[in-house]
Amino acid sequence: MRVAIAGAGLAGLACAKYLTDAGHTPIVLESRDVLGGLVAAWKDKDGDWYETGLHAFFGAYPNMLQMLKELGIEDRLQWKEHTLIFNQPEKPGTLSRFDVPDIPAPFNVIASILRNNDMLTWEQKIRFAIGLFPAVVRGQKYVEQMDKYSFLEWLSRHGVGERVSSDVFIAACKALTFINPEEVSATILLTALNRFLQERYGSKIAFLDGSPTERLCQPIVDYVTQRGGEVRLNAPLKEIVLNDDGSVKHFAIRGLNGAPDYIETADLFVSAMSVDVLKAILPTSWKKIEYFQKLDGLEGVPVINLHLWFDRKLTDIDQLLFSRSPLLSVYADMSNTCREYANPDRSMLELVLAPAKDWIDKSDEEIIKATIAELKKLFPEDLGGENPATLLKYHVVKTPKSVYKATPGRQEYRPAQVSPIGNFYLSGSYTMQRYLGSMEGAVLSGKLTAQAIAEAHSAFQSSSMQTLTRPPATNAATA
Ligand SMILES: Cc1cc2nc3c(=O)[nH]c(=O)nc-3n(C[C@H](O)[C@H](O)[C@H](O)COP(=O)(O)OP(=O)(O)OC[C@H]3O[C@@H](n4cnc5c(N)ncnc54)[C@H](O)[C@@H]3O)c2cc1C
Repeated sequence: MRVAIAGAGLAGLACAKYLTDAGHTPIVLESRDVLGGLVAAWKDKDGDWYETGLHAFFGAYPNMLQMLKELGIEDRLQWKEHTLIFNQPEKPGTLSRFDVPDIPAPFNVIASILRNNDMLTWEQKIRFAIGLFPAVVRGQKYVEQMDKYSFLEWLSRHGVGERVSSDVFIAACKALTFINPEEVSATILLTALNRFLQERYGSKIAFLDGSPTERLCQPIVDYVTQRGGEVRLNAPLKEIVLNDDGSVKHFAIRGLNGAPDYIETADLFVSAMSVDVLKAILPTSWKKIEYFQKLDGLEGVPVINLHLWFDRKLTDIDQLLFSRSPLLSVYADMSNTCREYANPDRSMLELVLAPAKDWIDKSDEEIIKATIAELKKLFPEDLGGENPATLLKYHVVKTPKSVYKATPGRQEYRPAQVSPIGNFYLSGSYTMQRYLGSMEGAVLSGKLTAQAIAEAHSAFQSSSMQTLTRPPATNAATA
């Protein structure tokens, strides 16, 4: 079957990959001139990469890891020491580590928490462990039920004091969802903690060895095109044109640079665009259908990604760091963490600014000024002393609507990949799958769409489709 997919983010590309495995012919239509959506990256005039987001991969990403293996590129992930590192704002320039020993889960994570006395008191550790007990025993079902609470509400229901949320979980919430614990659904943190507690290497972090566009997305495109599929850039979906019965007749694609609009016909159609774009171009007659009405409950959250090049090395730490700054979220010195960005003499800090709602409309200069003021607290010797490092250049990448905003109650609005329209499917990390708004969630959603198409329209079942890493049956909320 010929399947037209709008959007070449990870969900659209993964969907295309698994459709080719199932013997179908995907045509991916991407509006921009760059692959990857939220993982897109660009080279500047000096040949330096800058990205939409600082992206960390986790051991608890089974579908991403399997896909990389199937593409023969799993060696592109650079695995780091098994540890989570937090800055200590009250002691500028110092770090607190949760070192995870190489023993079976959940004892490895428990040991890392018990051994860290900088950030949690014994009373807080015990209360938190008791609070987590139902999540460990009752699994994902309990985790989904907690979507009615914000994470802060969940913590206070379990008697865990304010300090825990201010010390550890603000950093975790900002890193996972770009919002603070009082806004974020408890399901998000509990899902992540559950995976980390159940998988020995679940919380182990890896960085890609270069830009996601070249090192992750391009191999998927090569795989798809070598098997008869197509990935077309500069091909924005303008309209979903319907038959009289409400099914999709064709995609109308906007012609760019004076070229006329054109029609893309196919047997089946997939939207792998962000939820905000889909809502904007949804056909009028579909707006009466409950499945599509629910999309109104979802909206992308703003986030800003920053890149700062300095004239000297600020750190030799080869890992993701949680800044615990009110302005910033996670950051890394990419000159240490990423092979293609390596530089033994100069640092390139890549940082996520979140929550970004008050900053998204500010100028790049204002954002960088505020960032440098925060960085002086993280690197007091190199940026705050008498001989501070010089900022050579910077790039600011703003995304006003990124992953869906994971506030309480959103789970029930996340749609299944199979829509009520017979020849139309959805993919995207916002669709229902257990890995939330992440790269793993995007890949899994694309795979679930391809699997649903393969089941409904069998061409042939390939081995990689048979080894699909499905969510466990206990997860009632997954497709
Ligand atoms: C700053 C930042 C940091 C992040 N950090 C991490 C991390 O550390 N770990 C992690 O796992 N995840 C992280 N994420 C989340 C992750 O990047 C996303 O969940 C994932 O990439 C989403 O993929 P997607 O394919 O679902 O959507 P998208 O990437 O949004 O893809 C949608 C695609 O549709 C295209 N499109 C839009 N309109 C049209 C149209 N009209 N016609 C055709 N195409 C169209 C877009 O251009 C885009 O390519 C981060 C995201 C950001 C922004």
